[in-house]
Amino acid sequence: MLTALALRARGYAVTLLDRQQVGQESSWAGGGILSPLYPWHYADAVNALAQRSQQLYPALVESLREETGVDPELLSSGLLMLDDVAGQDSASVQALDPVLWAAARGAVVQRIGAGEVSAVQAGIHHAGESAWWMPNVMQIRNPRLLRALRAALDVHGVHLLEQVEVQGLAISTGRVHGVRVNGQALSADAVVLTAGAWSTQTLQALGVVGEHPPAIEPVRGQMMVLNAPHSGLRRIVMSEGRYLIPRKDGRVLVGSTLEHVGFDKVTTEVARESLHAFALRLCPALAGVPIEAHWAGLRPGSPQGIPYLGAHPEIKGLFLHAGHFRNGLVMGPASTELFVQMVEKEVGLLNAAPYAWSAAR
Ligand SMILES: Cc1cc2nc3c(=O)[nH]c(=O)nc-3n(C[C@H](O)[C@H](O)[C@H](O)COP(=O)(O)OP(=O)(O)OC[C@H]3O[C@@H](n4cnc5c(N)ncnc54)[C@H](O)[C@@H]3O)c2cc1C
Repeated sequence: MLTALALRARGYAVTLLDRQQVGQESSWAGGGILSPLYPWHYADAVNALAQRSQQLYPALVESLREETGVDPELLSSGLLMLDDVAGQDSASVQALDPVLWAAARGAVVQRIGAGEVSAVQAGIHHAGESAWWMPNVMQIRNPRLLRALRAALDVHGVHLLEQVEVQGLAISTGRVHGVRVNGQALSADAVVLTAGAWSTQTLQALGVVGEHPPAIEPVRGQMMVLNAPHSGLRRIVMSEGRYLIPRKDGRVLVGSTLEHVGFDKVTTEVARESLHAFALRLCPALAGVPIEAHWAGLRPGSPQGIPYLGAHPEIKGLFLHAGHFRNGLVMGPASTELFVQMVEKEVGLLNAAPYAWSAAR
């Protein structure tokens, strides 16, 4: 939806196709933390997009709220990390001193002692001697962001076709001329694939995977929410590679698992018990609070978590914008900005090379 809106803002006539309802997959399932977790472990290509998005989010949310009346609840909760676990994923590429890392990038990471931890967030169990504190980290209530974006599609005249699956591409003389859906041809000067975890699979199904297939694969994440208005939680707190995210209305999200199980989106009893036990260990005030919901989503996993945004190496007019892995909500606005600059052949703030279809990752 971000990509469609940004292209529309540049004057393109845009049709957005989704094989179900928009905004029901990973972007809905995620936690909405607007920073990579332990960002110093990530590649610069990820952090550059994250930091640019952090600048873009306040104005984006404000204009969505004005245009649609839906408040995506951008909240400056800060991120308190009680231990230094990279997050059990392959996105970790470097281990730097977090304070030096932050100083070089204009970010704020503080090393705080055990006594200061309870001043930042009371009521959490912390056995360690110190913790990392990022006071400026924001969160977004992603299901509401998606509702606002969907309403903005109407406001700006993006043509939305839901429950429609692309069955083929019209390609001649090395250029795409449109798509085939429900036996009909829809003509277009350009086609942008934004199918999240299903992007490589879709390219394969359409027979256009090319010589350098993008390595996007599903990585399941399970989350749950507790309705806990009296938990006292105000900060996003991480420990053991997991986290609690307190929403504005007192709900607390508990996340998440990282599972390589293909396109299987079922939830499991093991994850339910383990996430719940983690939540109670970290925040004993959550004991006795019922689990309101438990769900799973498929992250679009990619090498080092670096998204692909670029033109197909062989077929003109075919573009890809996908593969944001664990950080699609935080990277989304900036990667969209960069994507459009790349399409328009403009020189932007960021270098697009690390995200190219055929860039080594
Ligand atoms: C548990 C969990 C926690 C997360 N937490 C965070 C977080 O705190 N912060 C953060 O920044 N990120 C987080 N993420 C990651 C983030 O959610 C994703 O990186 C991001 O949402 C990916 O967006 P997307 O639009 O590429 O994919 P999606 O939101 O999955 O959208 C893909 C869309 O493509 C459609 N589609 C697929 N195939 C086809 C087809 N063939 N034809 C037509 N349509 C198709 C789908 O129906 C879907 O609507 C989390 C993810 C999960 C699962």
